[in-house]
Amino acid sequence: MNSLKKHRLVRITIVYWFLLVYIVVALIFWYMELNQQNRQMYEYQLAQLHKDSPDYRSAVAEIEAAKNTKTSQYIGEGSVFLLLILVGAVFVYRATRRQFILSRQQQNFMMAITHELKTPIAVVRLNVETLQKRRLEEAQQQKLIANTLQEVNRLNTLTNNILVASQLETGAYRLNKQQINISRIATEAVRDLQNRFPQRSMDATIQPEVYMQGEDTLMQLLLNNLLDNAVKYSSRESPVKLLLKKENSHVIIQVTDEGIGIAAEEKKKVFEKFYRVGSEETRTAKGTGLGLFLSKKIVQDFKGTITITDNVPKGSIFTVRF
Ligand code: ADP
Repeated sequence: MNSLKKHRLVRITIVYWFLLVYIVVALIFWYMELNQQNRQMYEYQLAQLHKDSPDYRSAVAEIEAAKNTKTSQYIGEGSVFLLLILVGAVFVYRATRRQFILSRQQQNFMMAITHELKTPIAVVRLNVETLQKRRLEEAQQQKLIANTLQEVNRLNTLTNNILVASQLETGAYRLNKQQINISRIATEAVRDLQNRFPQRSMDATIQPEVYMQGEDTLMQLLLNNLLDNAVKYSSRESPVKLLLKKENSHVIIQVTDEGIGIAAEEKKKVFEKFYRVGSEETRTAKGTGLGLFLSKKIVQDFKGTITITDNVPKGSIFTVRF
């Protein structure tokens, strides 16, 4: 966060608390003032009475009752005001905070996305320039082409994520539900991942010919996001598992890794838009915080559920059930 914004935030916070304290103190002050006036009026009315008059006692009782009614009225109205002010203050505070967090996440998102877009473009450009300028051996050429393809795929997933996220959000995306072969999509996703990360060990158990109501592109996106994360948030040596099966007419997709895992209090938050665990300073993996937000949205659009559980001894298990 830049220091200008930080200063502005500090200023706004100070003004906010000052106003709030001022209003509450003013309310208490007014209550005391009114109460004192009430007492003075009471004493004045008492002084007006003739002690030897026959209805002196009843007159005193009447004046006292009037005083008590006034006091209860002040307390009642004052409390309602105070409550309203406090509720309003909490509301404003929370709304501003949420807005502030969102704007910070959006800023991080812009930074992340610029990076995520620029890196593959730079790599692709360099590779293609090398291929154009130099006569390379066949093996080297193939390596460069494979690397270029990998980067293009990354770009593809990223742009798809951004596009679909904004379309699903605005309702512009037209779901085209149809019978799809989810086994084929899962097999392709694993193959794709294996091509991109040949050094990673992948363990896929895919029941063949499992069909469901869905859409190819969105299911690809869902699987790619979950598998990408499993690779991204675990060490190179650890395996990534994919399980796909049909169980009691439900389609179950499970992606398991032995990576850094997700703390209990983060398990819900990771599905929020732009949310990423940790801070910009401590994070090493690149990302945008859109993948899981989108995954959840896709799963919900097809009336499914997505949950995270801890893998033993470490890592996470993402389970999708349709
Ligand atoms: P990102 O682009 O940051 O990966 P996601 O929406 O896919 O965005 O994930 C949100 C956050 O959830 C990530 O930044 C990461 O902190 C956490 N996360 C997602 N998948 C995993 C996983 N398999 N293991 C550990 N943490 C994960």
